[in-house]
Amino acid sequence: MAFPEGVGFLKGILRDIFSERKGSVLIIVAVALVALLGIAALVVDAGLLYYTKVALSNAADAGALAGVQRLPKYPDEAESVAEAYAINNGVDEGGVTVEIMPDGSTIRVTTSKTVSLGFARVLGFSSTNVTASAKARVGTAKSAFGVVPFGVIWKPEFEPREGEGVEPILQIIKYNPHTKKGEDIGPGNFAALALGGTGGKVYEENIKSGYQMTLEIGDTIPTIIETEPGNMAGPTEKGVNYRLNGCEHHGEDGCTIDNYVKGCPRLVIVPVVKSLFASGRDDVELRGFAAFLLKEVDAEGNVWGWFLRMAIEEDMGSGDDYGVVSYRLEE
Ligand SMILES: [Zn+2]
Repeated sequence: MAFPEGVGFLKGILRDIFSERKGSVLIIVAVALVALLGIAALVVDAGLLYYTKVALSNAADAGALAGVQRLPKYPDEAESVAEAYAINNGVDEGGVTVEIMPDGSTIRVTTSKTVSLGFARVLGFSSTNVTASAKARVGTAKSAFGVVPFGVIWKPEFEPREGEGVEPILQIIKYNPHTKKGEDIGPGNFAALALGGTGGKVYEENIKSGYQMTLEIGDTIPTIIETEPGNMAGPTEKGVNYRLNGCEHHGEDGCTIDNYVKGCPRLVIVPVVKSLFASGRDDVELRGFAAFLLKEVDAEGNVWGWFLRMAIEEDMGSGDDYGVVSYRLEE
């Protein structure tokens, strides 16, 4: 048997081992122990690192999803909310970095933790840094399901007013425009829309339950919807009261802009239209979606409430921002 050059030394050791049984057993046990410790180090420490990575990743996701809801209008709040959520999800203070990307609509949350290693110390590693990150983006919603049939012509004062020390302003969303001069609503129209059918019954049902189809803003071809002429005072009052009374939150007053519950029937999505200068039953162009919290309706068919921001689970579009947005994790 020919050993390669230089293996003579090993040959000598092997011969010594085989010539002394006790010694060989000790060496084999020692070698096996080192191998076992090595495997144990891998298994235990890899498990710990994996567990830490998953926890950090979940915390980063939670932070990004919470923070993105304050974008693009409130980047400072977005940062503090994201940080608070990550910490709430088990990340140490100082272990969170939040970054708002240049587009103003994307937030990145990075979480990190130094993990003390157990068995890997044997191999000379006492600790290691584990990091995870998540990115979330917000954009205007391209479509919406269950909208109510009021056509809104957007005005700057409708901009949702939120945040500390900001007083939300009550707005009128449906009213008799013909008592106010200079309004951009055509003759016979009162900001009512015909969605999926015409007439008072369909209109009232659309207020109560929302239009049971998805409205989507067209990419190249505009989405056209139809007006419902006439004031529709009766169906408006019945429909809105149905929603107002459907609120079972916060005692007698129910939900208001200062205190409302997601999913409350008082919260509605309204189509924003390009113009309501239609004559009788006519076509108008859908521009986007606004969110509104109903407060009051009167016998004349006037409806009051507050515009607000709302996130829904729909695809993102590139339309103007009227308050209804969609967000998602990007990585
Ligand atoms: Zn409510």
